[in-house]
Amino acid sequence: MFPVSLGLKNMKGVIHENDKQRFHSLDLAQCIVDLNKLVLPRLTIIDGTIGMEGLGPVYGNPANMGIIITSYDTVAADSVGSAVMGIGPMETEYIKLASEQGLGESDISKIDICGATIKEVRKKFKRISLEDVLEYPEFKDCGTTITNRGACSGCRAVITSLISDAVKSGRTGRLKNVAFLMGQMLKPQDLKNIGDRTVFFGRCTRKYWKDKGIYINGCPPHILNVKKALGYTTEDFGDFSFMRTHLEKFGFKDE
Ligand code: SF4
Repeated sequence: MFPVSLGLKNMKGVIHENDKQRFHSLDLAQCIVDLNKLVLPRLTIIDGTIGMEGLGPVYGNPANMGIIITSYDTVAADSVGSAVMGIGPMETEYIKLASEQGLGESDISKIDICGATIKEVRKKFKRISLEDVLEYPEFKDCGTTITNRGACSGCRAVITSLISDAVKSGRTGRLKNVAFLMGQMLKPQDLKNIGDRTVFFGRCTRKYWKDKGIYINGCPPHILNVKKALGYTTEDFGDFSFMRTHLEKFGFKDE
């Protein structure tokens, strides 16, 4: 998972879904940089009126910021955006590589900032990682194992979100005794003792899946496909009326 998703990463929006997924099986940070070498924006506008902290860029919580950052230099915009969130620009691999490879300026001291200063608008964003959620006591009690052999940010983000959501909603029972296998480099010893609750997580595990266990397609899998495969029902979504149509697309029906 990258600490921030800003202008450089946003350019993934111009490519086909299949290519976005392919990026995850290559070097994602370098792929983002290479994409920007092809289609570097003339002007980057980061709408920071409401940001997202925690499990961004999809499953986090809104963070009211009330700012807009704009620059002709995408790397500079991303660097200032990171600093505003209390995150060093060099912590994000694709910003670091983009700067090193000459796409723009990441040194805040060399960026001319007009309007409010970083200090005036900075809000330290909450951060959450897979390692953090694995330490939740409620999760530790449910007998779930995760064998991660080089899974990339997409799959790690989905698992992180799944666990965080299960703990917050008090539904860790759905994860009870599940053994997740993820990553492209599973080893023979990981494939012993495959049972009904063994989950081959993501497209790159397809080659390891024979007839036992559950295979969940996707690169990364959609979280609703994961929940469906683990036996979640509409009841697990609480008041789901606002997302009924969306859930139905994934095969969830009223009980
Ligand atoms: S399935 Fe997951 S771990 Fe495998 S390549 Fe795709 S995002 Fe990466």
